[in-house]
Amino acid sequence: MGVVAAVAVLSVPSFAQIGGAQGPIAIAGARLIDGTGAPPIDDSVVVVEGDRIRNAGPRARVQIPRGATVVEATGKFLLPGLVDAHCHINQPPEDMKRYWVAQLRWGVTTMRSAGNDKPETVPLFRQTRDRVFLAPRAYTAGQGFNVSGPYPGAPTFKPKTPDEARANVQNLKSQHVDFLKIWMTNPMFPPDVISAIVDEAKKQDIPVISHVTDVKSLRQLADQGVTDFLHTPTDVPVTPELIAYAKSRKLSFAPTLANIESRWFYYEHPEILNMPMLQDALYPRGRQMLADAARKAETLGAADLAQRKARLRDVYPFIKAMSEAGVRIVTGTDCGAEASQITPFGHATHRELQMYAEAGMPPLTAIRAATLDAARVITRSEDPDYGAIRVGKAADLLLLDADPIADINNTIKINRVMRAGTWVP
Ligand SMILES: [Zn+2]
Repeated sequence: MGVVAAVAVLSVPSFAQIGGAQGPIAIAGARLIDGTGAPPIDDSVVVVEGDRIRNAGPRARVQIPRGATVVEATGKFLLPGLVDAHCHINQPPEDMKRYWVAQLRWGVTTMRSAGNDKPETVPLFRQTRDRVFLAPRAYTAGQGFNVSGPYPGAPTFKPKTPDEARANVQNLKSQHVDFLKIWMTNPMFPPDVISAIVDEAKKQDIPVISHVTDVKSLRQLADQGVTDFLHTPTDVPVTPELIAYAKSRKLSFAPTLANIESRWFYYEHPEILNMPMLQDALYPRGRQMLADAARKAETLGAADLAQRKARLRDVYPFIKAMSEAGVRIVTGTDCGAEASQITPFGHATHRELQMYAEAGMPPLTAIRAATLDAARVITRSEDPDYGAIRVGKAADLLLLDADPIADINNTIKINRVMRAGTWVP
């Protein structure tokens, strides 16, 4: 034990250092919430072998293999690892690895970095998927396209002409990014530049994701085939017409509420802020901002705080209506965003799904939004390799001590996290 702890403190452990399972692992007795939205299964057995789920179901139907290590989980709750479709992690490589471990300890086993990633860090993302070191499965949109930001000095592309835009997309292709990100924020790119980015991305076979907060930009991109949106249009209330449009085009939204709520949430919840796991998941400047008593007093005493909270809840009808209509709402938080500093890795993803439940999504649907549906959006596949506790899928698991259906806030009562068949130390 001493050796394992020392390794974990000194550097980011590799999978080999932690030591993979010697044989199968059987997690027995937990209430199983498989991520698909199906009713939970009481007294379940989930068998993990290597990096895969070999079997899962009620105890009566699942045989525990001879020689399996049995993890007694009666009274606990087993979910797929969480997926965050909207993060940022523009940090020095060694720091990225530390934040990834912090995120993993919160049960987030997949993350997508949506822009501001420098070319030299792009290979690290692939390494997370090859399991060169312990981290969530991570994807990157590389630098992304933003006219003036999203913060001073961000390594984004700022093309002035369609030709320049196409050259930038080709550059991203040569970097082997997983996605391409367009910020539809003011000041906007001219329409012909946007069209060139989207068209060249299609030619180069790079999926596009986009930040949108107005209906006009949403339609501009969706009419060109973009489906994967971060944030939501907030310039007008949601209408039946917009719902029908989103449904017909199979759009998805990562509402990204946690980024807004984090401006006051952690000041109001010192019991969460003071958790070492939360502190580890913040950048040093964010930690400082949240420890600043004057800043806290100013934030919580601000005359417009109630109004800001109400504005955040204004997004709830969009989330509820779209979700009920079958439009995919998936977890995305802006965790790790430089402009925010105080949207932590890991916990933010829990707040996001908890707010979907507050918005009126049934808990099982909110959990599906944070697991299988987010995996579907990221992979562009209805049957992704992860995101659900199903036979043959990746063994990315989150074991809870309390029932998230009875109280969605219980998703943070974390017992253990497994990534690709390995328990996270
Ligand atoms: Zn973002």
